Amino acid sequence: MRVFTTVKDLKNYVQSKREFSFKIGFVPTMGALHLGHISLVDKCLKDNDLAIVSIFVNPTQFNNSDDLDNYPRTLERDVELLKKTSKNIIVFAPSAKNLYNGAPKSIKYDFNGLENEMEGKYRLGHFNGVGTVLKFLFEAVMPNRAYLGEKDFQQLQIVKKLVEIEKFPIEIVGCEIYRESDGLAYSSRNERLTKLQRSEAKIIFETLLKVKNKFGIKNVATLNEMVSQVFENHKLFELEYFEIANVENLKTARDIDASKKYRAFIAVFADKVRLIDNIALN
Ligand code: AMP
Repeated sequence: MRVFTTVKDLKNYVQSKREFSFKIGFVPTMGALHLGHISLVDKCLKDNDLAIVSIFVNPTQFNNSDDLDNYPRTLERDVELLKKTSKNIIVFAPSAKNLYNGAPKSIKYDFNGLENEMEGKYRLGHFNGVGTVLKFLFEAVMPNRAYLGEKDFQQLQIVKKLVEIEKFPIEIVGCEIYRESDGLAYSSRNERLTKLQRSEAKIIFETLLKVKNKFGIKNVATLNEMVSQVFENHKLFELEYFEIANVENLKTARDIDASKKYRAFIAVFADKVRLIDNIALN
């Protein structure tokens, strides 16, 4: 398995493969890899001649320095896990200075309002950071396809917009959320949960499922209230937001238009650990 740490070396390598008309697939990650990431890597390996996985904890997308400092960094373990998955994976793990060609700084993007909903309201500047790092990563890798998880559904929609804005000839492939056996979505942040928080965390997916079961039967206000009630006096989890939103523009739904697609989105805190999840409703 090859691990590249500079944009220049990676570009040279990818270029040498492109000369043989290799299809290049790319999975951007922040490391602390788990089976959710591996589900993306598996799809990427299946669809392409070469799979590149980046491991880079991007400072510009963190609005909370505590969260950035505590984000797990496990490069050696990540490389071992990728090795077990396939010997044909290329890892790209640059330093911030190398990737950003200097001090990391966000570009200001207009994603047509997508950036102002949900995560954008609670994590100011987050999507400028996401857009900027993906611009640099896409320029370094220039893949034919990039694989992103529906776990971060808003991010997925924004990255589709980013490739439009930057006119990158990259197909963005959305991949289903991969869950643990109790329904909790795999996340690098799950490692930071206490044993008790981890065993109770299934309440997040269970609540989303309840909403899905009642969607179309109860109105949106009733569903919102139902979720608030679940978390109102919960000992371990504090609700940051719950929203039912239109999949296209991510605007909060008040009424349901049967011709449109909706998803339910949730963010909760378990102490200082922030977990997000979402589910398709129709
Ligand atoms: P991250 O390392 O958290 O930035 O995630 C890297 C990519 O993996 C993103 O596209 C995420 O949406 C995706 N991802 C993370 N967790 C999951 C999961 N449980 N199922 C599917 N995709 C995931």
